[in-house]
Amino acid sequence: MARLVMKFGGTSVADIDRIRNVARHVKREVDAGHDVAVVVSAMAGRTDELVKWSREASRLHDAREYDAVVASGEQITAGLLAIVLQDIGVSARSWQGWQLPIFTSNAHGAARILDINGAELIKRFKERGEVAVIAGFQGMHKETGRITTLGRGGSDTSAVAIAAAIGADRCDIYTDVDGVYTTDPRVVPKAQRLDKIAYEEMLELASLGAKVMQVRSVELGMVHNVRIFVRSSFEKPEAIDPHAAPSGTLICDEVEIVEQQIVTGIAFSKDEAQISIRRVQDKPGVAAAIFGPLAASNINVDMIVQNVSADGKTTDLTFTVPSADYERARDTISKAKDAIGYERLDGATDVAKVSVIGIGMRSHAGVAAKAFGALAERNINIRAITTSEIKFSLLIDAAYTELAVRTLHTLYGLDKS
Ligand code: ASP
Ligand code: MG
Repeated sequence: MARLVMKFGGTSVADIDRIRNVARHVKREVDAGHDVAVVVSAMAGRTDELVKWSREASRLHDAREYDAVVASGEQITAGLLAIVLQDIGVSARSWQGWQLPIFTSNAHGAARILDINGAELIKRFKERGEVAVIAGFQGMHKETGRITTLGRGGSDTSAVAIAAAIGADRCDIYTDVDGVYTTDPRVVPKAQRLDKIAYEEMLELASLGAKVMQVRSVELGMVHNVRIFVRSSFEKPEAIDPHAAPSGTLICDEVEIVEQQIVTGIAFSKDEAQISIRRVQDKPGVAAAIFGPLAASNINVDMIVQNVSADGKTTDLTFTVPSADYERARDTISKAKDAIGYERLDGATDVAKVSVIGIGMRSHAGVAAKAFGALAERNINIRAITTSEIKFSLLIDAAYTELAVRTLHTLYGLDKS
């Protein structure tokens, strides 16, 4: 007997038929003798609609009331799933964040989970054999008693946090894909599903553009060592043997991964924009004069490349920002022109970032050098490079994204044979 968290995303609970399908997945595990806590998202598209309504009601709405509105999507699915479970003879009840309670910070719209009372759930597993159906994405701030939400995609984080709180053997993330792939299979048909991936690698993949899980949920899993299993909710519930190893991808500690590849995956993102500041003064305080105002405007800067000047006076500085922030970033820099001191501002929005990830890079030299050679052969120009211990990222022209990803996927031996 195991203790499981089963999390179902928006597409898996998109209508009553799909909620029935979810209930059958839950019943299978309950019948196998497991204790089950289910975490649900809002029905697909519902949260978008609630966000839109809040904006329509007022552009500058009260963040606490925004949370009161958008948290409601999950309340609906939790109730509906409990009803459907009861209907097929599974003892179940729904839980809102404030009922459990799931205490969070008071950063409305982007709250962090601080504490979850798992004891009550465990007691109910023992005494009543009752499935807990928990509304994801939401919690409550202890001092004010107000409802909070965790940021878009936050029910992944709810699920992992609950798994930690009840000491679950596994946190199953049921979604519309059947696992984590070496890269996006829509771009590279030869992409392979990974059996296992280390937390750190998944964290990079998720931050760098793979949209499987909310980044914070992976962080939390890593801190609490929660074994996270990504699997498909569209497999026939009864066709799965609850005692056999299911198919999907396990996100776990790297020590659990025996056959570690050097490169595990390739991520890419086209939501990037490049800004280059030409002939900027090369003196102390200039970087602060540039990045201070950007930070103050809440613009996330990613890659930064600065050259050492030849004449000791001026140099070029390039950085990237999310394309949505491109105009704002240019304005911010232009306004600070006198304080910074530069000649010209150049920029490009038709750029993409391609990132190669693998824990094996820690102990292997020349991994990135191979990529530079392979891309040069394809005539793909690299605009900027950043590296860390387990990944490197290349900024290229967006038109070459697919070609670059496919080239690198083959180069590092990731193609399905
Ligand atoms: N329903 C929320 C959203 O769409 C949370 C989630 O689905 O994880 O962002
Ligand atoms: Mg999601």
